[in-house]
Amino acid sequence: MPHVITQSCCNDGSCVFACPVNCIHPSPDEPGFATAEMLHIDPDACVDCGACVSACPVGAIVPDNRLDGKQLPFVEINASFYPDRPADVKLPPTSKLAPVLPAPQVRPRRQPLTVAIVGSGPAAMYAADELLTQHGVRVNIFEKLPTPYGLVRAGVAPDHQNTKRVTDLFDRVSRHRHFRFYLNVEVGRHLSHAELLAHHHAVLYAVGAPNDRRLDIDGMGMPGTGTATEFVAWVNGHPDFSDLPIDLSHERVVLIGNGNVALDVARVLTADPDDLARTDISDRALAALRGSAIREVVIAARRGPAHSAFTLPELIGLTHASDVVLDAHDHALVARDLPTAPDRLTRHKLEILTRLADASAPGDRPRIRLTYELTPERVLGERRAAGMEFSVTGTDQARRIDAGLVLTSIGYRGKRIRDLPFDEAAAVVPNAQGRVVDPDSGHPVPGAYVAGWIKRGPTGFIGTNKSCSLQTVQALVADFNAGGLTDPVGPRAALEELVRGRVPDVVDAAGWRAIDAAEIARGVDDGRPRKKFTAVSDMLATAATAQPAPPRRLLARLLG
Ligand code: NAP
Repeated sequence: MPHVITQSCCNDGSCVFACPVNCIHPSPDEPGFATAEMLHIDPDACVDCGACVSACPVGAIVPDNRLDGKQLPFVEINASFYPDRPADVKLPPTSKLAPVLPAPQVRPRRQPLTVAIVGSGPAAMYAADELLTQHGVRVNIFEKLPTPYGLVRAGVAPDHQNTKRVTDLFDRVSRHRHFRFYLNVEVGRHLSHAELLAHHHAVLYAVGAPNDRRLDIDGMGMPGTGTATEFVAWVNGHPDFSDLPIDLSHERVVLIGNGNVALDVARVLTADPDDLARTDISDRALAALRGSAIREVVIAARRGPAHSAFTLPELIGLTHASDVVLDAHDHALVARDLPTAPDRLTRHKLEILTRLADASAPGDRPRIRLTYELTPERVLGERRAAGMEFSVTGTDQARRIDAGLVLTSIGYRGKRIRDLPFDEAAAVVPNAQGRVVDPDSGHPVPGAYVAGWIKRGPTGFIGTNKSCSLQTVQALVADFNAGGLTDPVGPRAALEELVRGRVPDVVDAAGWRAIDAAEIARGVDDGRPRKKFTAVSDMLATAATAQPAPPRRLLARLLG
C-alpha cells in the first residue's frame, strides 16, 4: 500500500528528508527540482512507513487505499515519474542535504549569529527554520503588517485550506526561544537597512514580489479593470485591498493569462458561496460573491494549449471543483497540439483538455472557459470596462469578448528595496546564491542577503522556498564562519529600545497569537477555520490584549 502525493503538494521537500528509503523525487539537490510541478513517491520503493505523512506541512500525502475519487489521478502521476525502471535497478543513494553550521565547539568564541529577516512569508519562515536548527543562532523577523506569513495568508486561495496548513510549521518555528517577531514594523520606513544591520550580523530580505506585472494597453486602469493578484488579496482580506471596489454585477469576467493564479481566481469566482463560507475568505468578499451575477469566467491565453502556464495538479483540481469548458475552435487547437506534445507532462495536460465539455452544452452553474491564442489589444468601453478586444495571435484578425470585469493575471513583479541594488529588467535584487551583489563592482554587499521571489523571481510553489532559503542560509553561515560579518553594536535590549521608540505598537509573537486566537474564535459559530480581521486597527487592538510572557527565569522558578 504505497503512499501518494496529491494536489496540494507544496514542494518544500520535507517529505524527502523524512523518507527513510529515499523514494521521493525529485529531491532538492536533483536536477529538475526547481521546475518540478510536484514531488512523486515511487510506488515500488515506498515502504509505507508514513514518515512522509507526518513531515508534510500541507497534508498532501495519503495512503493509496484512502484516496478519494478526486485524488485517484495522482496514483498514476506519482508512478509515471518513474517510468520503465527495470525491476532489479537499485534506487539512487540517499541525497539528503548536510547540516549548515559546523558544530558549536569548532566555532571561535564570539557573539552568537544574529540575523534580521525582513518579511514573514514562506521564504522568510523557511530561512528562520534553517537558521534555528543550529545551536545558539538568533533570528528576528520584521514584517510591515501586524500579521505574519505573507502570501500564505493573503495569496493562497481560501478554498485551498490544506495549503494554508503550512502555517502550523511556521507557528512552530516562531515558538523557538531564539526567535522574535517584530510585526507592524516597516523596514525602509521605520528602520533603515543600516540601522538593522548595525544590530545584526546580517539582514536577509525575503520580501517577495509585491507588485503585479502591468499590461500596457488602452483602457487598463478604467473602472472594471484590475489584476488577479489584487483580487486574491481582496478575497483573503489583506488590509490594503479589503475595500477594493470589485463589481460582480455583470455576467462575464475575462482573465488575461492562464497561470495558477488565474485558475485560483476563476475557481473562486464560480464557486458555490456556501462552500466558500466554510473557509477563511473575507466577509466582504463572501457577501459580494453571494450577490454575484457572474455566469462565465473566460481565461484567455496568448499562446496555444501546449504552452498553458497552469500546472497539472492545479488543472486536475480545477476540473474536479468547477465546470470547465472549451469552445469548438479551442478543442481544435488542443487536437492540433496533442500529437506533437513535447513531453509527458504537457501530453497529460492536453489529454485532460480534450475531455472538457463543449462550451455550447448548457450548464446550470457558473462555468470557466479556457481560450487560446488571443493577444490582448485593448479594453472596450468608454467610462468602464465593457469587454476585451484581442487579436488572434500572429494575425490582425480581431476577436471581442464582452465582460464587465477584466483582470490581468500575468505574474507578480519584485519591487526595489531601499539602499540595495536592483535589476529593473528581471525585477530581482542581483545576487549570487543569495548574497546581494553590487552590479557595478561585482562584489557582495556585506551583510545583505535575499531569499524567495525577490532573489529568483516569482515562480514556484510555497515549498520551493525551502531549498531556496537553505541556499541563502548556507552562504550567510559560510560568511559568518569565515569572519566576514560584523558583530552587532549592542545588546538585544538596544534593538528593542530602537524599535519601540519608532513603533510603539510593534506586535510581538504574543500579540500575533492573540490575533490568531481571536480570529479562530470568531469563526467557530459559523464552522469556519477563522474569521479574519481586515483592518490594521482591529489587529492592533487585539494584539494589545496579549499578556506579556513572564520572564523565562521567573517561569523556571515558579515551575520549580
Ligand atoms: P505565471 O505562471 O507566470 O503565468 C503568467 C501568465 O501570464 C502566462 O499565461 C503568460 O503567458 C501570461 N502573460 C505574461 N505576459 C503577458 C502579456 N503581456 N500578455 C498576455 N499574457 C501574458 O504567473 P502566475 O499565475 O501569477 O503564478 C506565479 C507563480 O505562482 C507560478 O509559479 C505559479 O505556479 C505559482 N502559483 C502556484 C499556485 C498553486 O500551486 N496552487 C497558485 C498560485 C500561484 P506566456 O506563457 O505566453 O508568457
